[in-house]
Amino acid sequence: MNVFDKMEEMEHEQLMFFSDKETGLKGIIGIHNSVLGPALGGTRLWRYANEQEAIQDVLRLSRGMSFKSSISGIHLGGGKAVIIDNPQAKKDEAFWRSYGKFVDNLGGKYITAEDVGTNTQFIEYISRETEHVAGKPEYLGGGGDPSPVTAYGVYLGMKAAQKQLSGSDSLKGKKILVQGVGSVGQYLIDYLVKEEAKISIADINQANIASVSLKHQVDVIDPNQVYDADMDIYAPCALGATLNDDTIPKLKCSVVAGAANNQLADERKHGDMLRDRGIIYAPDFLINAGGVINCYIETVGYNRSRAMAATEKIYDQTAAILTIAAQNAKNSQEVALEMAMKRIEDIGKIRQRR
Ligand code: NAD
Repeated sequence: MNVFDKMEEMEHEQLMFFSDKETGLKGIIGIHNSVLGPALGGTRLWRYANEQEAIQDVLRLSRGMSFKSSISGIHLGGGKAVIIDNPQAKKDEAFWRSYGKFVDNLGGKYITAEDVGTNTQFIEYISRETEHVAGKPEYLGGGGDPSPVTAYGVYLGMKAAQKQLSGSDSLKGKKILVQGVGSVGQYLIDYLVKEEAKISIADINQANIASVSLKHQVDVIDPNQVYDADMDIYAPCALGATLNDDTIPKLKCSVVAGAANNQLADERKHGDMLRDRGIIYAPDFLINAGGVINCYIETVGYNRSRAMAATEKIYDQTAAILTIAAQNAKNSQEVALEMAMKRIEDIGKIRQRR
């Protein structure tokens, strides 16, 4: 892969490679676009098969963050970091503080947070070396785990999609399949139970299945049977790319609304396929933005009710995008992307005038 060609193609501003022999830390920070503000996005710790895979991931994820923040109306650009998980490296306090120093070197152009493989404990270590970090634990003045806020946004996006389908946003009696009952999936189920939805769950982690089953009355589905299951709403809350050539023709639902990032294997092709099948798709990066909104509120002075109020806008935003998509027979993901890009473009023009 030619990295500069790839950066040009995906319109990235900066990639920063870092390595620390002492702690075994190595990774990449990707800054896609900082027109709307400092680039914020989590740090992913992952065992990449090779460096190309890590580069590809940081480019893709940081670009996604630009659009997520833009569509949410918050004043942040898009960034993300990946740490190439070296099983030999000791991932102790020194490891994370070393990473914090690299984040600090960017002088606030990039603000980090949690992602897959990182947690509030690591964030605390990172915060000893840099102030450019969000998702700090509450006792350090942070917003803590963003998952409940993400789940709230997903729930509201789901309701807006249901309203687009039937004229009512009630989820009462709807058969909803939640695929992946980790942090976000479990908080989402709490909202769905209050609405008296009929919930089924699928997960590969038996402990998570058990914790939901103990708390709520749910049907448990084999993870391999998800796409054949009878459901009104499919809520992908585990992995990306679950909407693809194989799964879309099988789906029996009328709405897809979930937390997972990059649900469409190919945004154009699979967004179109869902539209052609008459399935309403609530764009993932729009309805799962509660987490980044929570981080944004942390950067301006954290207050949970303010974060929840800002997340509430996801309902109207989803409704507006689905209406435009329906009126123009367009793919909802593309409508959302166009809106997100337009805001960056418009603000970029204003900033050039200075
Ligand atoms: P999590 O790791 O807590 O939960 C994911 C769950 O999915 C786990 O229980 C896991 O066992 C399950 N899973 C993995 N593979 C599966 C499979 N093949 N079939 C069924 N279940 C499977 O993660 P999370 O924080 O709940 O995030 C869920 C999704 O939402 C992820 O894609 C994440 O990137 C996205 N997301 C999360 C947040 C947030 O605030 N946590 C914000 C935005 C987007």
